[in-house]
Amino acid sequence: MDHFIGFDYLLRVCLGRDCHISIFGPPGFHRQIENKINAYTWNLVENYTNDFALHVTEVHPEHKLLRTYHCRKAFEPEIQDANENFSGTLVENSSFAVKGEFLDHKIPCLAYRFEEKSRVNIKKNALLEMGLPVGAWLMDLKDRILRGDPDDTPVRVWWKEGKQEGGERFIPLGELKATIVKMTPGQKIAYITDAVYNEDNARKIVELAYGSDLMFIEAMFLHEDADKAAEKHHLTARQAGALARRAGAKRISLFHFSPKYKGAGDLLVEEAMAAFNGRES
Ligand SMILES: [Zn+2]
Repeated sequence: MDHFIGFDYLLRVCLGRDCHISIFGPPGFHRQIENKINAYTWNLVENYTNDFALHVTEVHPEHKLLRTYHCRKAFEPEIQDANENFSGTLVENSSFAVKGEFLDHKIPCLAYRFEEKSRVNIKKNALLEMGLPVGAWLMDLKDRILRGDPDDTPVRVWWKEGKQEGGERFIPLGELKATIVKMTPGQKIAYITDAVYNEDNARKIVELAYGSDLMFIEAMFLHEDADKAAEKHHLTARQAGALARRAGAKRISLFHFSPKYKGAGDLLVEEAMAAFNGRES
């Protein structure tokens, strides 16, 4: 419930909008989504102008199953046949990738890493100096760089004059990279929740979150309640901080506190930060 209760709000906000949302979850996820959808009556949706759709991927340790649900078809499941292999990557395109890893929470639970690809920044001054126009060709240039096209690839620089095609020039990709492009590294964000502390989980968490710029990690209990944490298959704040330290995360954000510490969340944060900074509390 903690992690799925917000789905109804998401669904409500998206109804009638022209958008598609991709959602990923562990085994049993399609049934859970369908149970949520079936709690409502969808008698007017076929008249909507926009067809909101959900693309739901159920992730298994070695394969992924996709079902699509279209609002205008009253969210009847469309089962896509392709049974894709899963070896850690949930989504990948030219600007980002999302990785997933199964953690043990007594039930299989997915942890995630969002990884932005390098950013291609255009140096506007250099562009002006070379007498090159701003325009749609820059998108093509960025795609080529992110795809890793060879440096001798000719890039078509073109522009319009009024409504007419104004002209074109071809410049080798390598030359543009050297003159008008500045690459900056993308961000890495890890999201870890619902995991028991054991060696296998610890190793997987550290690998998944390795070098992240920001690591979200659960800190359900204080370490003095480590027995309780183990019994409920959760981490203590100290364990969370120590894992983030091992992963070399730059920053951490703690969440998923037990209601037991209501009003005393700062104790959990303090304990985790002490471990993160290498001080045992
Ligand atoms: Zn949880």
